[in-house]
Parts: sequence; C-alpha cells; structure tokens
Amino acid sequence: MFKNLIAGQYSAEGYHHFQAVNPSTQEVIETRFCRATKEEIEQAVQAAKKASTALKNMEASKKAAFLRLIADNIMELGDTLVQTAMQESGLPQARIVGERGRTCNQLRLFADLVEEGSWVDARIEEALPDRVPARNDIRLMKRAVGPVVVFTASNFPLAFSTAGGDTASAFAAGCPVIVKAHPAHPSTNAMVSHAITQAITQLGFPAGSYSSLYDDAYEVGAALVLHPAIKSVAFTGSHRGGLALHQLAQQRPQPIPVFAEMGSVNPVCILDDYMETHLKSLAKTIAHSANMGAGQFCTNPGIQIITKKHAEPYLEHLSQAFKDLTAFTMLTGGIFENYQSKRNACLQKDGVQNNHASPFGASWKASPAVAHVEARDFIQNPSLQEEIFGPFSLVVICENTQEMEVVVQHMEGQLTATLFGTEAELVEQKALSLLLEERVGRLIYNGVPTGVEVCHAMQHGGPFPASTDDRFTSVGTNAIYRFVRPVCFQDCPDALLPPELKHSNPMKISRLVNGKRVES
Ligand code: NAP
Repeated sequence: MFKNLIAGQYSAEGYHHFQAVNPSTQEVIETRFCRATKEEIEQAVQAAKKASTALKNMEASKKAAFLRLIADNIMELGDTLVQTAMQESGLPQARIVGERGRTCNQLRLFADLVEEGSWVDARIEEALPDRVPARNDIRLMKRAVGPVVVFTASNFPLAFSTAGGDTASAFAAGCPVIVKAHPAHPSTNAMVSHAITQAITQLGFPAGSYSSLYDDAYEVGAALVLHPAIKSVAFTGSHRGGLALHQLAQQRPQPIPVFAEMGSVNPVCILDDYMETHLKSLAKTIAHSANMGAGQFCTNPGIQIITKKHAEPYLEHLSQAFKDLTAFTMLTGGIFENYQSKRNACLQKDGVQNNHASPFGASWKASPAVAHVEARDFIQNPSLQEEIFGPFSLVVICENTQEMEVVVQHMEGQLTATLFGTEAELVEQKALSLLLEERVGRLIYNGVPTGVEVCHAMQHGGPFPASTDDRFTSVGTNAIYRFVRPVCFQDCPDALLPPELKHSNPMKISRLVNGKRVES
C-alpha cells in the first residue's frame, strides 16, 4: 500500500483506501492508496508552517540548487516513471517522455530565474532627510506568502502535477507545498513526491517544505483549503472543482486566493482570403490540434468562427480531416463519460448540425467529432460555449465579418483566441483583434492554440470563467507571482534587509532606485 508522504515521513493512519484504473485496459491497478486523515492533514500543514520562514529566507542559490536537484532526481527515476505514468493515464510513451522533459526544463527555468534574482522587482527610494517633508528610506520587494496547496491536474500527470509548474513556481517563490494528488495517477505522484523529498534531504531543507496527501473524494482538498495556515491554492481542472474551491477559500475568516485554471473553448476565427488559399491544410491542422491528447487540453480549439463565403468546402475538408483522425484513450472513465454526454447533448441542441461524429465503442477511446451552427443560433444559446473536454469542435457560421465581431462580443473569457488571416486581412480586421484581446490571455495569429511554451513571456490564464484571476498565469516564470506579496521595508537596518534590498546589492540584481532602473 502507498502512504501519504508528510514532511519526509510515510503515514497511512486512515481506513479508506482507493485504487487507480488503467484507462487503456479499464483494469483496476493493484496498488492501494490511503486517504489522509484529519490528523495527517494537520501534521502536513503544521510542518509546512514550520518550514515557511526558513524557505522564505532561503538563499536564492540554494533554492535554485533544490529545483535543479528535483529535476535530476525525476530523471533518475528513469523508465519506471514513464511506464507508471503511461499505465495510469493511458497517454502514449512519446507524450510522457516529452512531458517529463517539459517538467524538468520548467524546474530548471525557475532555478535560473531565482538565481538571477531580479524577479523580486526590488524598488528602492533612498531617504531624503533634507526634503520638506523629509522622506524615509523605503524599500519594496516580493516575498513568499507561506504554505501553498497544489491540486494536481488529471490531463498532465507530470507537467501540471506533483512537480509541475504550480509546485515549481511555489518552491521558487520560497513557499512550502502540500500536494493534493489526483486520484487518477497516484503512483506517478508517489514517485515524483519521493524525488522531491530526496532533494529536501540531500540539501538539508526543512522537512515540512513538501508533503503529498491522497484522497479520491473532496474531503482532504476542502480541509486543506479551509486550513488557516494555508496562504494560497493552485488548481487546474473543471469549472465545478475550481469554483467550489474558490468559494470555500472566500468563506474562510481570512480569505485566500485560489488560482484556478478551468479551461476554455479557445475560439479560432478564420478570415475569408486566408481560408480560400488554405482550405485543406487548415482543416487538417485544426482537426489535428483538436485531437491532440484526445482533446484533453485546456487550449483545445473548441469553437471555430468563419463566414459563409467558403463554409461549404471548408466543412467538407474538416469532416474528412476529423474522419481521418485516430481515436485516443481518455484519461479516466469520468472524463470519457463527460465527453460522451456533453458531445451528444451538443449535437441535439437547436440549430447544431453534425458534420462528423464517429460512434463510441466499449473502450474509453474518444471519437473525434465536428459540427456547425449558424451564428444567430449560437448567440441565442450560451450553453453552446461550454467546454466539451475531448476532440470536439463546433464551427459557427456568420453572414460576414461584422457578424463574426458580434459572435466574439458574446463570448466569455478564454485562455486563448486565434485569428487566421492574410497580412492585409489582419490589418483590415483590426477591430476583431481588439475584441478578441479583451476576452483572452493569449492571442495567436495563424497558429493553433494547443502547445503552451514554458517561458518568460507566456500568459496561461484568461478572464473569468477561464481562470479565477486573469492577472496571473499558471505557465511560465510569471507564475511565481501567484505565491508572493509585496512587502515594504521602511528605515530598516541594512543587516536586517533581505539581500535583494541591501545597500551593496550583493546579488547584483536589476533594481529601480529613486525611479531609475539600475542594472546590478
Ligand atoms: P476535477 O473534477 O476538476 O478535479 C481536479 C482535482 O480537484 C481533483 O483532485 C479533485 O479531487 C479536486 N476537486 C474537484 N472538485 C473539488 C471540490 N469540490 N472540492 C475539493 N476538491 C475538488 O477534474 P478532473 O477529475 O481531472 O476532470 C473532470 C473534468 O474537468 C473534465 O471532464 C474536464 O471537463 C475538466 N478538466 C479541465 C482541465 C483544464 O485544463 N482546465 C484539466 C482537466 C480536467 P478528487 O478527484 O479526489 O475528487
């Protein structure tokens, strides 16, 4: 049996056990996992609280070494980790190997960020004793908030999970992390949790820097969010789950932020001239993007918006491209059932016409499907904007580009939007770009929304309901700002200042001094 991992110690005090299921065979996997008890939750939180001050004040070079060592330890797990993640997720080997690379690169990118140090946005206003009135010495920087709870995502067993972007950015900020493991891939979590704990021991970090708790229901997650020592929460998953946790956090005597990334339909607008010259290739590209990872990406192109000018040939190509797709196994029985019922319900809605929808079989394979609807029916029925998590795309047909703008104006907040057009069209239809920009975190030109680069310039988070707080991202180095708060030090003795704010600038970071940027 696998146990909860609490501040370096394995613990299984509870009586409720659960097992994961292999999505490819639908067989129950032998290993049992033990739901954390109230006492175990308390132990994990108290250990995190205890580790909090040391982690917040940890030297940047040590935090960087920690993040790099976690990456090295994950790689040391070798093929066993890859096989385990494949068994629990049904995802193919190439995808898991790629995801492992992404996870380790992400950890190393955060290591580079904290080692360089300027991310803390240090601002210094030196004292002006002769000014009337006199000005004090005022210094500002970002400091870690304290213990963070991370809910791991089902659709990325490595990169958005135990040592994924949320955990990496929280550690980089200097926060202890408690992971609520996703019940779909508990063994994968156990292996990666071991790699993290090993790094903690190897570098002598406080044991409470990391804990991982199991549950196959909502009790443990809810108790963590409600615990007064928890300061922030990161979540990737459903609207229902994200909103439930957000509401819980707002009901606390001391409310805390829940950074929930809840997915979207990522509208793709295609302008006429571009479509005319790319009919077949575009249909193939979008169908392929919609079917990546069995459509289980929050950046899936779920809605396409076009005019009627080339609608007929485009739909023909699109139907063929969807017919040619391979159906992949979905992550869990629940996600498969959701896809089936939501896809079927959508195809029954007023005005929706099926272009291609292959039938479902006994396995959890996601049959790709594509349908279309007239713009006026789409506008009248807001439920057509709901995410269908799987390889499904709905084409909205407009009279002209003016109606495309009206459709966009009716759309909710999204993670991304895409505009396909010739250079001349894109300039001519600038209004459409501006309308899309108001609704998204990332605006893409002539490319598909799937594929989110982990880098300094990424924004993965959009206006509600895509995310609970669109000022922040869950991918890329800016994700660190979810787990810090600004702290201002006034007339603080130099010896007590964090290194980033000391007079001598020992870390040689870029700072704003008296309103002027000073590079090291
Ligand atoms: P989920 O239901 O949102 O669950 C994600 C995690 O949050 C799980 O650990 C779950 O715990 C926990 N959780 C959910 N609701 C909770 C609540 N009310 N209180 C406490 N904890 C809660 O996501 P899922 O099971 O992975 O997939 C279900 C659906 O979510 C999919 O069909 C899809 O529509 C959507 N989804 C979206 C994304 C995205 O990228 N935005 C990713 C994955 C899934 P337990 O499982 O232990 O109950």
